[in-house]
Amino acid sequence: LAKTGEFEFLARLLPRLASGRGVVVGPGDDCAVVAVGRQRWLITTDALVEGTHFRPRWFTPQQLGRKAYLVNASDIAAMGGRPRYVLAALAVPARYPDRDLMRLNIGIAKAAAETGACVIGGNLTRADRLSVTITLVGEMRGTPVLRRGAQPGDALFVSGELGSAAYGRRLLSRRVTARGHEVRRFREPVPRLEAAALLAQHRLASAMIDVSDGLLQDLGHLCAASGVGARVEVEQLPCRPSIRAAGHALALSGGEDYELLCAVPMHRLARMRKLQHRFGCQMTRIGAVMPKSYGVRAVDALGTVYSGPTGFDHFHASTAARRHRRTPRSS
Ligand SMILES: [Mg+2]
Repeated sequence: LAKTGEFEFLARLLPRLASGRGVVVGPGDDCAVVAVGRQRWLITTDALVEGTHFRPRWFTPQQLGRKAYLVNASDIAAMGGRPRYVLAALAVPARYPDRDLMRLNIGIAKAAAETGACVIGGNLTRADRLSVTITLVGEMRGTPVLRRGAQPGDALFVSGELGSAAYGRRLLSRRVTARGHEVRRFREPVPRLEAAALLAQHRLASAMIDVSDGLLQDLGHLCAASGVGARVEVEQLPCRPSIRAAGHALALSGGEDYELLCAVPMHRLARMRKLQHRFGCQMTRIGAVMPKSYGVRAVDALGTVYSGPTGFDHFHASTAARRHRRTPRSS
């Protein structure tokens, strides 16, 4: 896998998976979509693994459970859905204190309750290293927003802020007692459920994804699915001054942001502005969808081009060497 890389492997695997009755969207988007009667359900799964996504002292057990849940909720948001039912599969070393295991599960359950979901089951198994795998079922009212659907000329928007979480992870890896806004952003992503539901409900977004592996990487996925290219204006990226000062790489390919990235047709912009006050977060225009031949590029004021995707791949030799990087991409 170090030679193949995560994404090339998936590109080979996915065509070999047979579809089934009721499958509206199969593998390859932020969530699968299945139809049960007239209702559409979103299903996604994601794991946090000790040593790959975190070191033991980076999170309290409750914070870890919380994050494991929230990164999944972000994938439900990426389609415009609402989290509903949670399955939690935990692999735990025998030495792990049962008090901590309880706190970890409470972390999952509390975060779920705050976003309208509840834990309905799971699994507990022994392992050498701690891992938390969450499967989340979301309810979809209306039509889910997919990664495909963006058209050249659409505006590109991103929610919230970029780069802080990656910076927080960097701070923690240097000093486990690090604190502050960036560390909070890393420990506790904020799934943009309100904004996403509005974007879907009002059909504002032609395509959407959540930024988990880095802006350029995930923009690359959206563009590949849509058969388009994209241009990002680096100066427009919503970053704190401290992040901007640390360089563009954090915002472009840092990862762990769990923000929404979406394409919005020009004729929907006025409607979007009217709804902005209900989103619960800033939506920043960062560029435009281009024809496929343009590629995926971020350009700064000096004309320097950062071409993507350059985010995280779990297995590729060039990035797997950067250990303790980020949470996995989803299905
Ligand atoms: Mg995703």
